[in-house]
Amino acid sequence: MAGYYNKDELREQLEVENIYDLIVELGGEPEYTSFGLVSQTICHNEPGEGSRKLYYYENSGLFKCYTDCDDTFDAFDLVIKAMKIQKHLDWELYDAMCYIAEFFGFSESERPEDKIQGLKDWDLLKRYNYKNNDYYHGSQIREIKEINPIILTRFSYPRIFNWEQEGISLEVCRKNLIGYYPGNEQITIPHFDINGKLIGIRGRTLIDEDGERYGKYRPLYINHILYNHPLSINLYNLNKSKKNIEKSKTAIIFESEKSCLMYQTIYGMDKDISVACCGSSISNYQIDLLEQLGVKEVVIAFDRQFKEIGDDEFTRLTNKIINIKKKYGNRIRITAIFDKEMITPYKSSPIDQGRRTFEYLLENRIKDF
Ligand SMILES: [Zn+2]
Repeated sequence: MAGYYNKDELREQLEVENIYDLIVELGGEPEYTSFGLVSQTICHNEPGEGSRKLYYYENSGLFKCYTDCDDTFDAFDLVIKAMKIQKHLDWELYDAMCYIAEFFGFSESERPEDKIQGLKDWDLLKRYNYKNNDYYHGSQIREIKEINPIILTRFSYPRIFNWEQEGISLEVCRKNLIGYYPGNEQITIPHFDINGKLIGIRGRTLIDEDGERYGKYRPLYINHILYNHPLSINLYNLNKSKKNIEKSKTAIIFESEKSCLMYQTIYGMDKDISVACCGSSISNYQIDLLEQLGVKEVVIAFDRQFKEIGDDEFTRLTNKIINIKKKYGNRIRITAIFDKEMITPYKSSPIDQGRRTFEYLLENRIKDF
């Protein structure tokens, strides 16, 4: 068993949107705030019983309960507390890590010190118990609620010049219903499931497009309704690219929606085989979706999230890709675009620099590893 995630690494994978989904799952009815999230105090109450005094701070990644609990705690502690209260289970850190890793479709977490074979059975037993207790979310099909598409008529649909400059055509924006919500100064990106059902709307702020601090995607929040969905159980753009993916038996997985829009602009809708996982992890469920279309090869096309060969981010990215291969490689051929020559800028998608660079990277992708 090659260990990969320890607690800190797993925690670093959790975006505020993941925490939001987790609190929803645990019954805490979260809301976004300027600093992160507020929710019911499911740390010491049953859902529906406490006040809304549980705060999650995005910058520290920690929760603070302003009524009963002492000290700050993280997402794993929250899971342990909620399982105790709601299910009378005595969970340990490892149980919470498995729960979170499986819930979000991250690679399996490993107990860092477990080198003893005997523990494997114990692990399996624990996993088996999750399934029996209905806490197992691995590849379980979860119905995502449809959003009434009427909401899309409330947005305006101006030309987005920044995006056009970056290489996304007006036509592609129109076809993907990319709009604008002046209330939050956000570009609106509707998300559909494979059958074209509207399941979520993400907003991308226009204030300082380049700034990472403000460039974050958020689900749209209008009139007290949050248009979110669990990102790990869908693939953005699959409703549009599924026919071509079926035909070519190949899919390219980018991190962000914009990369799919660039792909469509460069190659046309009739050659589009792109999808976006909207994060930097690929879930079992997402692989299932592609497998069902008869896909034989998945090309991972993640952002160049490292500054130098061998730095910490480089190690994390390579480990992530190796892990995806390990996890799904026996079901589907996994290849990966990896900009080892560093011809694209830090943090950019392989398609950001246009067709020639993209095709060079695609041609030279890692095929055997
Ligand atoms: Zn509490």
